Amino acid sequence: SFSLEGDVAVVTGAAQGLGKQMAAALAEMGADVAIADVNHSKASETAAGLGGETEAIAVEVDVTDEASVEAMVEAVTDRLGPIDVLVNNAGIVENSPAEETPIESWRRVLAVNLDGVFLCAKHVGQQMLDRGEGRIVNISSMSGFDVNVPQKQASYNATKAGVSMLTKSLAVEWADRGVRVNAIAPGYMRTDLVDEVLEENPEMEETWLENTPMGRLGRPEELQELVVYLASDASSYMTGSTVVMDGGYTS
Ligand code: NAD
Repeated sequence: SFSLEGDVAVVTGAAQGLGKQMAAALAEMGADVAIADVNHSKASETAAGLGGETEAIAVEVDVTDEASVEAMVEAVTDRLGPIDVLVNNAGIVENSPAEETPIESWRRVLAVNLDGVFLCAKHVGQQMLDRGEGRIVNISSMSGFDVNVPQKQASYNATKAGVSMLTKSLAVEWADRGVRVNAIAPGYMRTDLVDEVLEENPEMEETWLENTPMGRLGRPEELQELVVYLASDASSYMTGSTVVMDGGYTS
C-alpha cells in the first residue's frame, strides 16, 4: 500500500526545493513529517505551511556534524515518535574547473552530500534496526552517472555516484533486518539550486534542453509519487535500487 498513515518521516534539506515537495507528498499520504534543515527559519515556515491533518515540525540540523545529527534524531523521536522514513535530500553543488578547485570547496561538497547521507543513515538506521523496520530514500542525481557537459562539477558528480553505491551497501547490510534503502537520481528539476547555476551561466539551459529527450526540465512535484512509492510498503521487495527520473537525459 502507498499509505503512510501513522508513520513518522524525516526529510533533510526540506526547507525548500525538492525536499519541500517530497515532505508535502509524505504528509499528504498520512505521515507526520520533520523538516530537518540547517536553515531553521525557512524550515519553520515550510513546516507551518504543511500543517494539514498530520503534524509537521521543523528541526534544526547540520547533516555534516555527527552530534547535530544525533540531536536531530532525538528531537524528532521525542516530539513525533520513532522514525519510519528517512529521506536524505540535503545536498549542495559548487561548480569550478577541477584544476582550480580549492580543497575547501571539495571538502564542503563531500561533507554535505556524502558525510551527511552516511551520518543520517547511521543514526536513524540504528533506531530502525532496533525496531526491525524502516525505509530510507537517498537523493542521488543523474550527475552520478553521466557528466553534464559543459558543467564543471567533479566534486558533485563524485558524491552523487557515491550516494548510489552507499545506497547499495547499506541496503545489503540491512536487507534481512527490515530496513530498505533506495535512491532517486533526478535530472534537472527547476529549483533554487538549478536557478543559481542558470544565473551564472544562462546559456546552459539550451544545452540541457538539447540533451534532454523530453525537451524540458523536470518539475519538483514530479518526484512526489516516486518518493511515496519508495517510502511506503508499495515498494516492499525493492532495496539497493537507484531510480533515475531525468526525462531521458542519461538514456
Ligand atoms: P536546494 O538548494 O533548493 O535545497 C537544499 C536544501 O538543503 C536547503 O534547504 C539547504 O538549507 C539544505 N542544506 C544545505 N546544507 C545543509 C546541511 N549541511 N544540513 C542540513 N541541510 C542543509 O536544492 P534542491 O534542488 O532542492 O536539491 C535537493 C537535493 O536534490 C540535493 O541533494 C540535490 O543534489 C538533488 N538534486 C537536485 C536536482 C535539481 O535539478 N534540482 C537534480 C538532481 C539532484
